[in-house]
Amino acid sequence: MVYGFVIPQTQKETQFMAKKAALGKHSKGSGYVFSFHEGDGKNKKLLGGKGANLCEMTQIGLNVPPGFVISTEACLAYLAGKKQELPAGVMKEVKAQMKALENESGKGFGDSRNPLLVSVRSGSALSMPGMMDTILNLGLNSRTLKGLIAQSGNERFGYDAYRRFIQLFGKVALGVPDERFDEEFEAVKQQVGANSDIALKAEDLREIAERFLAVVKHETGSPFPEEPYEQLELAIKAVFGSWMGKRAVDYRREFHITPEMANGTAVNIVMMVFGNLGNDSATGVAFTRYPDTGENRLFGEYLVNAQGEDVVAGIRTPKAIDQLHDEMPEIYRQLQELRNKLEAHYREVQDFEFTIEKGTLYCLQTRNGKMNAAALVRTSVEMVREGLLNREQALLRIQPELLEQLLFPRLDPGTRATPIARGLPASPGAAIGRAIFDADRAETLGKGGEKVILVREETKPEDIHGFFAAQGILTSRGGKTSHAAVVARGMGKPCVAGAEGIHVDVHVREAFVGAHTIKEGDLITIDGTSGDVYLGEVPMIEAIFSDELKTLLGWADKHARLKVMANADTPHDAERAVDFGAMGIGLCRTERMFNASERLPVVVEMIMAEGDHARRQALDKLLPMQRSDFIGIFRAMAPRPVTIRLLDPPIHEFLPTADQLVNDIEQLEHLLDTVRGMEILGDSLSLLPGGSGEKIGSLANPRIVEEALQYKIDMLGKVRALHEVNPMLGHRGVRLGITFPDIYSMQIRAVLEAAAVCIKDGVEVHPEVMVPQVCTAVELRRVRELVEGIRNSVEASHGVKVDLKFGSMIEVVRACMRAAQLAEVAEFFSFGTNDLTQAVFSFSREDAENKFLPMYNEYGILQDNPFEVLDTKGVGKLMELAVAWGREARKGIKVGICGEHGGHPRSISFCHRIGLDYVSCSAPRVPIARLAAAHASLLEKQKADHTRR
Ligand code: ADP
Ligand code: MG
Ligand code: MG
Repeated sequence: MVYGFVIPQTQKETQFMAKKAALGKHSKGSGYVFSFHEGDGKNKKLLGGKGANLCEMTQIGLNVPPGFVISTEACLAYLAGKKQELPAGVMKEVKAQMKALENESGKGFGDSRNPLLVSVRSGSALSMPGMMDTILNLGLNSRTLKGLIAQSGNERFGYDAYRRFIQLFGKVALGVPDERFDEEFEAVKQQVGANSDIALKAEDLREIAERFLAVVKHETGSPFPEEPYEQLELAIKAVFGSWMGKRAVDYRREFHITPEMANGTAVNIVMMVFGNLGNDSATGVAFTRYPDTGENRLFGEYLVNAQGEDVVAGIRTPKAIDQLHDEMPEIYRQLQELRNKLEAHYREVQDFEFTIEKGTLYCLQTRNGKMNAAALVRTSVEMVREGLLNREQALLRIQPELLEQLLFPRLDPGTRATPIARGLPASPGAAIGRAIFDADRAETLGKGGEKVILVREETKPEDIHGFFAAQGILTSRGGKTSHAAVVARGMGKPCVAGAEGIHVDVHVREAFVGAHTIKEGDLITIDGTSGDVYLGEVPMIEAIFSDELKTLLGWADKHARLKVMANADTPHDAERAVDFGAMGIGLCRTERMFNASERLPVVVEMIMAEGDHARRQALDKLLPMQRSDFIGIFRAMAPRPVTIRLLDPPIHEFLPTADQLVNDIEQLEHLLDTVRGMEILGDSLSLLPGGSGEKIGSLANPRIVEEALQYKIDMLGKVRALHEVNPMLGHRGVRLGITFPDIYSMQIRAVLEAAAVCIKDGVEVHPEVMVPQVCTAVELRRVRELVEGIRNSVEASHGVKVDLKFGSMIEVVRACMRAAQLAEVAEFFSFGTNDLTQAVFSFSREDAENKFLPMYNEYGILQDNPFEVLDTKGVGKLMELAVAWGREARKGIKVGICGEHGGHPRSISFCHRIGLDYVSCSAPRVPIARLAAAHASLLEKQKADHTRR
């Protein structure tokens, strides 16, 4: 089945063309020019995307106007030459191709009775919309214009085409500024009182064309070139030149388009077809499916009696493609057929241009449609069901990172709002709520159903209840590893951190941003994906975890070798992780449980305890709390494995800062003075007749204040005693576990008892305990002894066997070097790449990101932020060594990664390559990681197949 008008082409001609193509480059002269019948539709690098597809469409019998392509190689040769000359032989071949075009069309280039007009179109290997130039209606001059008018019987059409050509050619090929033409155009419009272009009559357009010719003469000093071949050569050179134009160069820089991806533009010379020859003509653009939803239905717009660029220029409002059904039923049917053929051939959603000339449909361009994530997912699943794609192709056509759009709420890209400040994009997603300046109030309002954004200078562990109640978090200080950022990411809540332009004044409950003031209760919107902060409510698009996405990820899991775990700290997080398809928990940070508002005082009590006895009393209170959390987590995750990390951070993180305490102490001292004064006042007043002094005297009890004061003073002493010069490298992790074994014992007991309880309830559990900050096997042995002792006692008292795995974090450089020894003790390894990266670079993350990393990236000293993208050359190399040594010592030792890199697609592909068993990341990134894990396997397989071939 062929659409509409078929280009006359004999079988002999086709055979001849095929033979000519088969003969290869050198037999065809310069080797730079390819007719649409012979060009290789797969070779986008050589012919550009537009050119390759025009060839391909021609060769599968779609109705494309005849034409030919001059290759990107010709462009590069032209640009490399000094003399602004096309490479030798190109124009000769162009002439030969033009002759063929004349034969095919029955028209003559420069013929004054039946003129052939062409477009000269740019097109590189990658689509760079609007970045390069295209000239339409080339071949017009004072003589051929007459022919065009006579042939079409439409004078207005003729002058309209002419004035368009002079302007485009003048601008693109002769460098005449657009404004010169626009001024004349407006002048004529005014003169004749036309308020739109359509109101201009033939003679008006004729005057415009004449004025345009004068503009060219005035601006260039020469008359407008009349000779069609001269026009053609100038146009080809101009399009080639547009590859190095500022617009195009900037665009390539912005989108990181390297010469390997696209080098040079091709030029497509295409016979003009006209959508502006009357009401049986039209032009439009269409998608084979809806690009925003993926719905399997033709989507597009068209304009009757118009030329291609009118649709894009927005001069007239185009109609929805569905209307074409009523307006031109037969063409609509052909368009549907075209859509089916395009998809059946390309097996991808197509974005195509078409023109209808007097009832004949032409396809002028096609390319793969750009779609949003929702549409990609839906079309992937549906195109598999329709047999257009196999599952592997369906998975590979979606970049894992794109799924972020579906997993976090985001700002509606269709609305334009101006941010008042920008901070660091610390945790993705957008949120709207009332600005609230303290955690307590946030909690109260949040529980009351109000949407709030917690706004702080920075956050501390004691703010945690405010996080739970808030939609999102905004801080004016701190980096991507600040407390706010890390906790928000863990919870999957949007966070903008370190928005330094915002001055937060908690005392007056206001924040100031330049001229703006955010009062408590004001609505604000934050975008944790970009770091932008807005006043008021910006429209949002909610996250959608659709059935199609579930189906697609189900396929992904079948292809992936890596398992995907979640980092989850609470039963609630665990449930969410399961929803996102986590195959277990790879990192459960027990300290997060310590931070809950009702627990923190007990933790503080434990820290403040003088002597083992008092500490154990506090720990006894914490034990049932941790145990019940673990029970909740095990139940939510059953039967999947849960890896629990023993306490990691330095304990002073659970106490207020010294500054805060000094402040409190001062206030209490004042209070004490006042209270004591009141005591005296009471005594004195009782001297008065009536003796009312007693009441006043008993108003405050100085003893209570004294006690409170003493407690704060003790705490300050503790804080000072615990002070560390560099807490990151200080008394934390296993070091803490060894110096205060009671803490680790309590945690291990909580895990084992929780497991025992679950087992007795018939719940399948696979607990794993891992030790942070390990640098020697001896540390690990000591903790394992604790574990064994407690396991025996719990098993005895509960009467069940608990299958508990014991493992080590690998986040210290020495641990990598001693992986063989560690593997003798550990049953699994988990790379903590956040700390390992800091250790390998000797960068503290916060300082690096805030001070020098951006410049390092800009200067190309480092390509990426190693805290976001795993540094495969350094950190990765160590990981590779550690995996190998570990596996030598213990065959099949399970190895995973639980740093933030575990959710980053490129890093995941590296983890696949070095043979890790799993990656672990925050719950909302689990789907991204699942797809990335599948990509890693599939691409590896593709590569292997390729080398085998
Ligand atoms: P872009 O890459 O910017 O889309 P194109 O080369 O596709 O540029 O051309 C710009 C406009 O001109 C498009 O609307 C296209 O359909 C139209 N056009 C290009 N060549 C022809 C032709 N031979 N006949 C009719 N319209 C054309
Ligand atoms: Mg186009
Ligand atoms: Mg760590």
